[in-house]
Amino acid sequence: MSVRVGILGGTGAVGQRFVQLLDGHSEFELATITASENSAGKPYSEAAKWRVDSPIPDDVGDLTVRATEPEAVPDDLDLLFSSLPSGVAADVEPAFAEAGYVISSNSSNARMADDVPLVIPEVNHGHLDLIEVQRDERGWDGALVKNPNCSTIAMVPTLSTLDQFGLDRVHVATLQAVSGAGYSGVTSMEILDNVVPHIGGEEEKMETETRKLLGSFDGTGVDLHDVAVSASCNRVPTLDGHLENVWAETNRDVGPTDVEEAFRDAPTLDLPSAPDPLIEVFDDESRPQPRLDRTLGGGMAVAAGGVQDTPSGVQYNCLAHNTIRGAAGASLLNGELLAEDGWL
Ligand code: NAP
Repeated sequence: MSVRVGILGGTGAVGQRFVQLLDGHSEFELATITASENSAGKPYSEAAKWRVDSPIPDDVGDLTVRATEPEAVPDDLDLLFSSLPSGVAADVEPAFAEAGYVISSNSSNARMADDVPLVIPEVNHGHLDLIEVQRDERGWDGALVKNPNCSTIAMVPTLSTLDQFGLDRVHVATLQAVSGAGYSGVTSMEILDNVVPHIGGEEEKMETETRKLLGSFDGTGVDLHDVAVSASCNRVPTLDGHLENVWAETNRDVGPTDVEEAFRDAPTLDLPSAPDPLIEVFDDESRPQPRLDRTLGGGMAVAAGGVQDTPSGVQYNCLAHNTIRGAAGASLLNGELLAEDGWL
């Protein structure tokens, strides 16, 4: 099967990861890249300030970047990935969906909309059926599917395995890499020798998106999970990989051994980009660490360790690569699921 795909906003930090991950993909063929007016009309190799850790694939470097509007892209594309700034995506993505395109988007707009599936394939695969509700309500031939924010996605696969014990309350403190702010987001003067204890909107995203992802879908909508999530988000001077300290309180008594076992039993999927195992569990309490562990499972695995009992519930640390599992890889996996389930 060859699925022709495009990337909206393909020149930025996440867009470049899409290009890297799509190179040699077993099912998807990259045919089109769009970006802002500044880049449209230029060869991709000139428009993208390439910063990922492999060369630009030759066939992609020669692609002419197109404007980000439905009229400017070929109409035979089966799937679009989106890594646009959310303000731009809020206008543009519905226009593409209305024009018949299926979009697997990484941008934060509309993630909490009632008729938009917010999906991590290993966690809530069934929420994809919300597409039928979306198409009914909006009259779209296309569809809009979202993956969660990069810090939420590092934590929720672990929480999902703890829900069998009655997940009640979660506290999380994040240590987030600078690439999460995009190429123009954080200056070296701000972040070198420093930690910034605030990331605009991030805490609310972790608190709300987690409840939607863990919620139940009844065929018409998603009932948010009751879990109370409190997040404190920090930008730290690492390049890639968000590390998170999580305290999880459950209704049933659980110990570190139960938790580690639940993590090791996390479900995996038979999709090209799905890691196996989903959660890599470390016995060494000094792991996971961003530099050592962010590329586990090709950057798609979640790493966890340091599981211990505390008076505030079970505590552990988890980590995921923010521009792979936390962004481009997450949309790519949703795209693979859309193809597998026959939505394209
Ligand atoms: P970025 O590096 O700033 O890239 C933004 C992309 O959008 C570029 O291709 C840019 O094209 C294009 N663009 C900007 N303004 C546009 C406009 N008016 N019309 C059309 N295209 C436009 O941002 P990023 O870090 O890749 O983030 C992209 C999205 O992913 C954001 O919504 C972000 O919140 C989300 N996200 C990022 C991460 C992460 O770790 N970085 C993780 C999760 C989610 P030009 O090159 O031509 O300007």
